[in-house]
Amino acid sequence: MQPLLTIKNLKKYFPIHAGILNKTVGHVKAVDGIHFNVYPGETLGIVGESGCGKSTTGRTILRLSEPTEGEVLFNGKDLAKLSKEEMRRMRKDIQMIFQDPFASLNPRKTIKQTLMESLVVHGIGSKEERKKRIEEIIQVVGLRPEHLDRHPHDFSGGQRQRISIARALVVNPKVIIADEPVSALDVSIQSQILNLMKDLKKEFQLTMIFISHDLSVVKHLCDRVAVMYLGRVVEIADKKSLFANPSHPYTQALLSAIPQANKAQKKERILLHGDLPSPANPPSGCTFHPRCRFATELCKSTPPELREVSEAHMVSCHLYEEINQR
Ligand code: SF4
Repeated sequence: MQPLLTIKNLKKYFPIHAGILNKTVGHVKAVDGIHFNVYPGETLGIVGESGCGKSTTGRTILRLSEPTEGEVLFNGKDLAKLSKEEMRRMRKDIQMIFQDPFASLNPRKTIKQTLMESLVVHGIGSKEERKKRIEEIIQVVGLRPEHLDRHPHDFSGGQRQRISIARALVVNPKVIIADEPVSALDVSIQSQILNLMKDLKKEFQLTMIFISHDLSVVKHLCDRVAVMYLGRVVEIADKKSLFANPSHPYTQALLSAIPQANKAQKKERILLHGDLPSPANPPSGCTFHPRCRFATELCKSTPPELREVSEAHMVSCHLYEEINQR
């Protein structure tokens, strides 16, 4: 199957300025050369600790943050090379749902005005068709047409996230990038929004990139999972393979931290020592080596390649064979 979206060697470096002359003295390597495909109808989860570059990846794909290097191929076009006007038009096809629905909705506009604006900006439908579309979409996300005349502050956090989802869906996009869409919500509301997204994914055959720090959320919703560490993808596989056979030491540690209700499934907790290093000064070789219990001299000097270890399962680790035969 042809991918809908191909990310090739994508980098996003933020300059660090210092001194009276405000000279560039270094770079924060938030995203440091990542590759992956997203196939039609699938949900790819991107997981990792806070600061690993997963949100920057989403923003850079959509050029809300300009890429430093690399390609973002969508329908054969490199989004990184489009003019501002071409990119504005392309945003109809790739929509984003943000973590904080309150910050992403204009407090002065009614929900109707917000949804209408998206349709008008992209020149979709006549006045009557737009009205009909908005009334349909608000019900699809579990709200009622009478909610359309209200403002964002009239809603709870969960309802506001439903409105953000409606805003993304109203233009009938081909890809949705959801950046931690439930992490700002109460736990009781999180599952409602996740179930809504799961239903919508099935109903509209959505292609999605779902960014989260929470592996159990990703397990609930995603078909494949990419694990990021310090701006790089260290493991990518279909969900079943990744959860059954986590192969990178970092993924193994993340998975061991998920609470298991079933005693028989409980695993030994692998503790990660130290904090995530600064992306302004990443460790040499394999950037995970200061926290890895298997690290060798080779790991300290040479960055490992992301390589296929079984069908559609890729891992970036020099010692994959040794670790996974133990
Ligand atoms: Fe650990 Fe070395 Fe593998 Fe990096 S390459 S994850 S340091 S064993």
